[in-house]
Amino acid sequence: MKITVLAGGVGGARFLRGLRTQLRKAYPNGDGGSTAEITAVVNTGDDMWLTGLRVCPDLDSIMYTLGGANDDERGWGRKGESERVSAELTAYGIGWPWFTLGDLDLGTHIARSSFLRDGLTLTEATARLAERWNLGIRLLPMSDQSVETHVEIELDGRRRIVHFEEWWVKHRATVPAKRFIQVGVDAATPTPEVRHAIAHADIVLLAPSNPVVSIGTILGVPGMRAALREAKAPIVGVSPIISGAAVRGMADACLTAIGVETTAAAVAKHYGSRRRSTTGLLDAWLVDETDAASVPVLEAAGIRTRAVPLWMRDPDTSAQLAADALAAALS
Ligand code: GDP
Ligand code: CA
Repeated sequence: MKITVLAGGVGGARFLRGLRTQLRKAYPNGDGGSTAEITAVVNTGDDMWLTGLRVCPDLDSIMYTLGGANDDERGWGRKGESERVSAELTAYGIGWPWFTLGDLDLGTHIARSSFLRDGLTLTEATARLAERWNLGIRLLPMSDQSVETHVEIELDGRRRIVHFEEWWVKHRATVPAKRFIQVGVDAATPTPEVRHAIAHADIVLLAPSNPVVSIGTILGVPGMRAALREAKAPIVGVSPIISGAAVRGMADACLTAIGVETTAAAVAKHYGSRRRSTTGLLDAWLVDETDAASVPVLEAAGIRTRAVPLWMRDPDTSAQLAADALAAALS
């Protein structure tokens, strides 16, 4: 069974960890007979060059979480982290003081930048980094070309375009976003590895990740949406919105910027019905039990919808959510 998951950082990582747990339960003898392969196609729109290093926040969130090295209390970065190098960089006046790069995390960025300087693609560099962590899943950047999400905001009466991370981390998304710009997207393509993972999947899942700046960015790569629509596998999405609010985060600010209501139903309609529309993606959609009222509405719009618990509180609830997504795909 081949499962391909489109994912952003923190929400994507939790979901992938649950999926891995669930599949290890379902296929305990991964080495004999039936196995399950998970491939994550990850947003790279948050990537940037910072202090001379290539930083890939979403790839790293997934790598650390599935590698067991994530700081689960803080929600991101490495556990047992220190910040000695960061203080030095600040003393030299480089980097972003509000975007802390921990010492252990910097090791990842140095290694990645070194691979890239040696001429490896981001796909190859990511595979080299992942080798160390024994993730049990394959980690793929959505594209090998740089696509950076920038945000148009108005600050002190002036129009400004800032990197997504500046808007998200420095301004905590409190300054309204006027629009998102995918710098470099016209020259980007899904990698051959991504195309293969989509075309040969038995199931495609959209993780409960930010629909605009995580999944939306992946879908914005020219050719990605068409590749998904042509996939033989069913496509099932999991809502990142529960009871009209983003779980852990500020996705509502992103949805508002693109004129989509912060509800599970509006996000599903934004992705669209694969059957009913010429650009839609979803065969099925999972909403939280508290959003059960949207089930008949979405069914009428051509999206098979189930209401199940969507909170990933711990490994068990995350695995159960993954099981529900797989069941929705297979039914
Ligand atoms: P980021 O790149 O780190 O912002 O992470 P993602 O884009 O992968 O995920 C962020 C989204 O995950 C947020 O919009 C949340 O709504 C969603 N999310 C976080 N935790 C949960 C959860 O327990 N359940 C569900 N359904 N969604 C969640
Ligand atoms: Ca992200």
